Amino acid sequence: MRKIKQLRRWPLILAFSLLIGMSAATTVVLANNQTLTVTSSVLNVRLGPGLSYETMGQVQKGTSLTILQKQNSWYQVRLANNRVGWVASWLVHQDEATTNAAKVARLKTNANVRQYATNTAKQLGTLSAGTAVNVLYQQHGWSQIAYNNTAAWVASNLLETTGTTTNVSVAQTTIATAKTATPTLQATTMIAANIRSAAGLNAPVVTRVAKAAKLTVLNQSGDWYHVRTADNRTGYIASWILTMPGTTANKTATKLSEATIVLDPGHGGTDTGALSTSGKYEKTYTLQLAQAVGAKLQAAGANVIYTRSNDTFVDLAPRPVVAAKVHADAFISFHFDSTANANTASGFTTYYYNGTKDKALAAYVNKALGSNLTLTDRGVAFGNYEVLRDNDQPSILMEMGYINSDKDFRLISSAAYHQQVASDIVAGLNNYFQSGHHQ
Ligand SMILES: [Zn+2]
Repeated sequence: MRKIKQLRRWPLILAFSLLIGMSAATTVVLANNQTLTVTSSVLNVRLGPGLSYETMGQVQKGTSLTILQKQNSWYQVRLANNRVGWVASWLVHQDEATTNAAKVARLKTNANVRQYATNTAKQLGTLSAGTAVNVLYQQHGWSQIAYNNTAAWVASNLLETTGTTTNVSVAQTTIATAKTATPTLQATTMIAANIRSAAGLNAPVVTRVAKAAKLTVLNQSGDWYHVRTADNRTGYIASWILTMPGTTANKTATKLSEATIVLDPGHGGTDTGALSTSGKYEKTYTLQLAQAVGAKLQAAGANVIYTRSNDTFVDLAPRPVVAAKVHADAFISFHFDSTANANTASGFTTYYYNGTKDKALAAYVNKALGSNLTLTDRGVAFGNYEVLRDNDQPSILMEMGYINSDKDFRLISSAAYHQQVASDIVAGLNNYFQSGHHQ
């Protein structure tokens, strides 16, 4: 653990690594044309396909949803506000496609066809002036049309109606979802953040909002939300920064397979961490170790989230925010120690900050490691580290050897050691959850 400067410039890049899995689905065109109807009185929509995932919202009985994909017994669905989540298949009823009466209209000019009713939505194609289209539904200046066997949108002012109607067969869901007129969605920022002129890290900053700022969500574009600020400015913000209404905390996990574990590989990018005697970087091995641990945790059924998954700089402040955002059952930060003079210390240490919240976690994990590793067990200790101090979730920081000890570095740089540490951490977490100390 090398002390690094505590910049307040939080990196949006983190949003990408975090939400990559969730957001992939938002780019899926409505190709399946499959729909479902909610049959339970209230249905939880979750971030992933399983009960262990965080609830991101709820939908009422009778709501129709578009199915994007199926995984095990879960459906990935698109909600009326364009967010994407997962619902249990046993709580919904799948519909057949139906025939709908459509108004026939003609394009007054060449028009862009979009996936959703907004100019920022993905463009699916263009239609030339004079083309006849079948209008399924109209709202807020946009017309939903049958397009390439699915439903798409064009601006209503580019159309003139012909006065005739026709029947078209389009999946019921696309229509039903559209009719659930998008409610005004309010969101709150979890930290101070930049609003940008486009959905991307390199886009110019329009304005900056404080922590806990209230924003109106206008639309989603991949990992980014198009939002309006309280002082009426619009722009884009990383969706990861926001909390949404209706989001409720998970039930506390009582076993590892129900748990969400955030793994925090220390340092990254320009922050190399400490050096081995041969000049190797701490950041390289914290990532390798975290990924080995993550793979074993996933194999045990846990929901694993990384604060970084490649060699990028991540500031200290956003790391505990990740744990808060997903209501992590445990947060584990990985580091390697170093001393002023090489080869003067050896061993691993498990740090906690809060005696009530963190110490049991530290004790169980350290015990599992100590009973197996050949490396000296330096025990459990209090550590005043920002990623623990600012963390509301059970959290520990592991110093898994001295990187400038040649003896320790042989382990630190070996895949076998990573695998052993991973197995021990899984065992330690299993014991921790079974012990009932997790609250
Ligand atoms: Zn470190």
